[in-house]
Amino acid sequence: MTPQYDVLVEGSSLAFHGGFFGISSIVLVTSGKTRALFDCGHGVTRKLLLNALEARGLAPGDIDLVILSHGHFDHVLNLDLFPGAPVVMSLTEREYVETPFDEDWVTPRILPMLLEGRELRLTDGEEEILPGVTAFPTPGHAPGHISLELSSPEGPVVLAADALKTAREASTCIPDLEFDPEKRGAASLREVLRRGRIIVPGHFPTIRTDESGRLSWTGVQEMPLLFR
Ligand SMILES: [Zn+2]
Repeated sequence: MTPQYDVLVEGSSLAFHGGFFGISSIVLVTSGKTRALFDCGHGVTRKLLLNALEARGLAPGDIDLVILSHGHFDHVLNLDLFPGAPVVMSLTEREYVETPFDEDWVTPRILPMLLEGRELRLTDGEEEILPGVTAFPTPGHAPGHISLELSSPEGPVVLAADALKTAREASTCIPDLEFDPEKRGAASLREVLRRGRIIVPGHFPTIRTDESGRLSWTGVQEMPLLFR
């Protein structure tokens, strides 16, 4: 089975002095009759997500599954929009969010409460979670981070989330913001690049790689700023 993917919200690394907007990519993955979201964003992207679903004739109730790459606030806080959808995440990340590292300022301490009462499907290692959609561990940025690999007519697609956030990380293989003290982020970056011909980063437009590993992207990000 060939799954489909559709970037509903394009990730961005837009930042300002002392902070950032936390716009992480949100991807609709369709496998057979199942519609899954890979990450669900937070307050900043809530309206963008709802508008993107509506533009496709979908409502939050049409989402059958929410897959969380990891537990950071910009990827998880819209979970309440999908109260009936089972949640896929790694067993490692599920355990980690109970007691995040002190210096981890991006994992919301309320996440265990948001997960309470939800149907959880926990991955342990590489696993096909839907026909044609494989989750694989990409620790480093977060201890239990997972990325997805999908087959496509153009070659393997990797939805990397924050295992590969930007073109800079892709070109240098030096991870930015590594919260896992075991420092496995560089290996995860290389694994994403090894697997994907098309890569959807966590905070950047889609990147393509060719046979020689050369990277390219065509996306131009436009973001009007409104001051009130
Ligand atoms: Zn993150």
